[in-house]
Amino acid sequence: MLALRARSLFDGACPEPVDRPLVTVEGGRIVSVEARGAAPPGATVVDLGDSTLLPGFVDTHVHLAFDASDDVVGRVRRAGDAELLERMRAAGRAALAAGVTTVRDLGDRGYLSLRLRAETAADPTAGPKVLAAGPPVTTPGGHCWFLGGQAEGVEGVRAAVRERAERGVDVVKVMVTGGDLTPGSDPYRPQYGPAELRAAVREAHRHELPITAHAHAASGIAVAVAAGFDSIEHCFFLTDDGVHFDRRVLDEMVRAGVVASLTLGALPGGPPPPPRIAQRAPGMVAGLAAMRQAGVTTVCGSDSGVFPVKPHGCYPYSVAAMVERGYTPVEALRAATSTAARLCGIAAHKGCLAPGYDADVVAVAGDPLTDITAVHAVTAVFRGGARVV
Ligand SMILES: [Zn+2]
Repeated sequence: MLALRARSLFDGACPEPVDRPLVTVEGGRIVSVEARGAAPPGATVVDLGDSTLLPGFVDTHVHLAFDASDDVVGRVRRAGDAELLERMRAAGRAALAAGVTTVRDLGDRGYLSLRLRAETAADPTAGPKVLAAGPPVTTPGGHCWFLGGQAEGVEGVRAAVRERAERGVDVVKVMVTGGDLTPGSDPYRPQYGPAELRAAVREAHRHELPITAHAHAASGIAVAVAAGFDSIEHCFFLTDDGVHFDRRVLDEMVRAGVVASLTLGALPGGPPPPPRIAQRAPGMVAGLAAMRQAGVTTVCGSDSGVFPVKPHGCYPYSVAAMVERGYTPVEALRAATSTAARLCGIAAHKGCLAPGYDADVVAVAGDPLTDITAVHAVTAVFRGGARVV
């Protein structure tokens, strides 16, 4: 039996931290969590000193196949499957070292993330638990078409979703709008009509799969929410010339339980954003405040891999960025743990430090509940009870 000691513990939900916690672990699962508890005789005690224990992070949005280089698209297109899978393994290890014990991969090529899912299930120390979407469903020539998920028309989209269900994906991802990464696609306009989107949702739900929409733009978010998507990736309500968090859409998200999967944050020291993006910053803060006030359930993703300032392992910057944009540390940490696990359908085992849960634990120096930047100072990571950092 393993016994972890630390200064404090946030269980993933409760805003009251556990003082001087003792967490016992056996068979990869948490057995007990006690304040000021005594280690059972014979237990191997790991004292993490001044650290705070948190549930291992659940990053709701990564691309393990993207390498955060200056030429993400070209590098994917030129790589063979073996080479790409090797990069994905390295990406997973980088995420795990940052405390991310579960990743939801929202766009691979050739369903390679399913192979990584099997590998890290067999050996949890090899990488995070992987939830996989396979290649995102997109229009011919549309956003990320080069990943191989092109489909059009009601029948085409339905067949694409069915194929993913048959492959055994954990979630279906649809590129509802274009994206910046893909020349020729328009990030501000829907790629699909309402009938195609509804068909995708119906088919995913028929297979009991969640379905999530790529949509930065207000127009794309509105059509995805109307079609019944379970969550919206990015969800920044961008318009051609600014930001418009539409109150009616926010209220509908709350009513229907549609989750916003934010992808804030990046490494510091990157190039300054172009003026068109920079001028949106105040509107973004006000809009996120409106979304928070409306009561939209929000989770924390990183979009790791897509840009040089978003390398794998940058997740702590996404958590901290939520606090910089007005969320409380407890809200940001819930968005990164228990709420993220609920969206991903793994809340029975992940996202919480309590008896019966998987012993996926990240320890950080200091107290992230009062200073969120503590999430950058990872002192230990456990995956299924095995220490990997
Ligand atoms: Zn993405």
